[in-house]
Amino acid sequence: MLIKANLQKILDSLKPGVRLVAVSKFHPVEALQEAYNAGQRVFGESHVQELMMKQEVLPKDIEWHFIGHLQTNKVKYMAPFVSLIHAVDTMKLLKEIDKQAQKCGRVIDVLLQVHVAKEETKFGFSPEELEQLLIDGEWKQYGHVRIVGLMAMATNTDDEAQIAYEFEIVHSLFGAVKKRFFLDAPWFKELSMGMSGDYLIAQQHGSTLVRVGSKIFGERQYN
Ligand SMILES: *Cc1c(COP(=O)(O)O)cnc(C)c1O
Repeated sequence: MLIKANLQKILDSLKPGVRLVAVSKFHPVEALQEAYNAGQRVFGESHVQELMMKQEVLPKDIEWHFIGHLQTNKVKYMAPFVSLIHAVDTMKLLKEIDKQAQKCGRVIDVLLQVHVAKEETKFGFSPEELEQLLIDGEWKQYGHVRIVGLMAMATNTDDEAQIAYEFEIVHSLFGAVKKRFFLDAPWFKELSMGMSGDYLIAQQHGSTLVRVGSKIFGERQYN
C-alpha cells in the first residue's frame, strides 16, 4: 500500500507532460509488481544483470529504461527489449547500440548524457563536447538509434540554487541543440532530469522524464 500511496503522491506533484520513471534498482520484484499493480508501467534500472532478471519475470508490457552507466559489452543483453537508454556518454556506446539494435531489427531510443554537475566522477559529455560531436555528424549514419533528447544529473547538494542553475544550463542547451540539429525531428523532445531529491526543481527547468527511486520504494540497502 505504501508504494501505491508514494506513487500517487509523486504523480500528483508532476506538471502535465512530465513522465515518471520509477527507479527500482536494488528493490525486489515484489516491489515492482506492487507499483505495476498501481498502474506504473515505466521502470528504470541501472545494473544489467538485475534488469535482465526482472524483465524476465515481470509483465511484458513494462517499458524498461536503462538509466545507469552502460558498458558497451553489455548492450547486447538489453537490445531486444529496452525502451530508452538514458545515459549515452561515448560515441563508441552509441555505435554499439546501433549495431545491436540492427541485429534485433529495432531502432533504439537514446538520450545523450550531459555533464554539468560539479562532481568529477559523473559521466557525460560537457556542453562543448556535445556540440562538437553533433557537428561531427557521425551519429547521422547510425540508422538504428534515435537520439530523442538529453539526460543530466545535478550536483548532489542541498544548495537548491546550484541545482536549479545546473538544470537550467541543460535546459537551454537542449533548446539550442534542438534548434540547430533536430528541428525536423519531432522525436527530439525528452529531457531526463530529476531524482527523488530534486525532481520538483527539475520539472521547473524543462524536465520531461523524472527518475525517482527512493521516494517511491524507500531507501536502498546500498548503491
Ligand atoms: C538511482 C538513480 C536515480 C534515482 O535516485 P533516487 O534518489 O533514489 O530517486 C535516478 N537516476 C539515476 C541515474 C540513478 O542511478
